[in-house]
Amino acid sequence: MNPDLSAAKASRSRRRADPPLRIESGVAPAVPFVDPLYAAQAGWETWLGGRLPAEEIGARRDARLRATIESARAHSPYYRALYRDLPPTGTVGLDRLPVVHKRALMEHFDEVATDPAVTRSGVTRFVADPRRIGRPFLGRYAVWSSSGTLGEPGYFVHDGRALAVYDALELLRFRAANAAAGAAAAWAPTQRYALVAAIDGHFAGIATLRRLVLLYPWLAPTTRAFSLLQPVAGLVAELNTYQPALLATYPTAAEMLADEQEAGRLRLALREIWTGGECLPPPVRARLARVFGCTVRSGYGASEFLSIGWECAHGRLHLNADWVVLEPVDARHRPVPPGVPSHTVLLTNLVNRVQPLIRYALGDSVTLDRDPCPCGCALPSLTVEGRHDDVLVYPRADGAAVKLLPLVLCTVMEDEAGVNDFQLVQPDAGVLGVRLGGGERGCGRRVLHALRAHLGAQGLSHVRVSIEHAGPQRDPKSGKLRRVQVLRAHA
Ligand SMILES: [Zn+2]
Repeated sequence: MNPDLSAAKASRSRRRADPPLRIESGVAPAVPFVDPLYAAQAGWETWLGGRLPAEEIGARRDARLRATIESARAHSPYYRALYRDLPPTGTVGLDRLPVVHKRALMEHFDEVATDPAVTRSGVTRFVADPRRIGRPFLGRYAVWSSSGTLGEPGYFVHDGRALAVYDALELLRFRAANAAAGAAAAWAPTQRYALVAAIDGHFAGIATLRRLVLLYPWLAPTTRAFSLLQPVAGLVAELNTYQPALLATYPTAAEMLADEQEAGRLRLALREIWTGGECLPPPVRARLARVFGCTVRSGYGASEFLSIGWECAHGRLHLNADWVVLEPVDARHRPVPPGVPSHTVLLTNLVNRVQPLIRYALGDSVTLDRDPCPCGCALPSLTVEGRHDDVLVYPRADGAAVKLLPLVLCTVMEDEAGVNDFQLVQPDAGVLGVRLGGGERGCGRRVLHALRAHLGAQGLSHVRVSIEHAGPQRDPKSGKLRRVQVLRAHA
């Protein structure tokens, strides 16, 4: 599955205690409930949707959009109030609806949800237990935590209909494109699949993998997740033993593994590498393909919608435009035309009803392609800028270079230290600088402890962790925060 992974980490204290798992009264199915009839319908419509002409895709999207807005107005107190003064659904264009932001949706979590049983406090309790990763919340929902591109923590609840569509998109578009590209083996259950990511929290990637293994136990022998937070030598040893054919991870992690493969320590014969969650620059893609001698494909996903885009055999990233609306906009939320990179993108999830996301500012910069894809698929294609935090490189005492991956450092900060508003900077080869936001200033001791422990595990105890007086500094041009950055004087 798409590693999306994205990133996403907000739940805390998950690695700390191991309290006994409280079994809730009543029937607690192992996996979020997906109505088999709906799953079949979602599969059929997804299969068909990828083969329809553009007008028919548009008609399906519009019908789903109307139903999404109607449902939110009828069942979500938050959206009902937000749309109170708007004309009836169907008489007003999507671009007239107000933009919603993660912070407000999280603050009004209980009113946003269309099911009164879904509460912020209930979700917070649920994600505090790592043994529930991939298991159903309230017996029927998936919950994924995310910090996303903007660095704000979020919890996203998905219903069975949404999960059925995500699974169909994964199988019938992402994987089917593999098969079309000649890698029919991607379908074969005997191919070992490895997810290399942050796996100790309720992140979309690992939670989906666990859910699918619970749902289809026959996947278990060929599906495994590996923690990126461990020292590289341990990860390399585990992967050498497991010998996956398919590997899903972040581009920066894939690059680190390519270093290991080139050095002869990692010995994998991969068929495919799937990347997500970060920018995959063309030179990195080319290097991965060369070092591992395999196909490299990127996907685009988020905790808000698992499978936003998939890469076809022509290397274009197609938008699943029949199930999700993406509006590329400028900083004032005005539409930008194809060919122009957006400031942010507004996402509308057309299938998930329990926590409606309508014109939700996702934060990514995307560029819609001007011309149709030669593969013939009428779903529009786009490029995503994605995250482009820096990889920090420090010399170990024995002189060997150790790479610290941005998504790993962010996970340590969010999950181990419990801070979300931060920036990590590397002023020189001996210092890791920490800039904490105003609300996090009191967390310095926890941050020092967590970072020193992580550096120590990587053989970098001699690197000094320094809490700086300045807070996180956004890029003056884009307004975006690079959360992990090599300072220019050093770069
Ligand atoms: Zn294509």
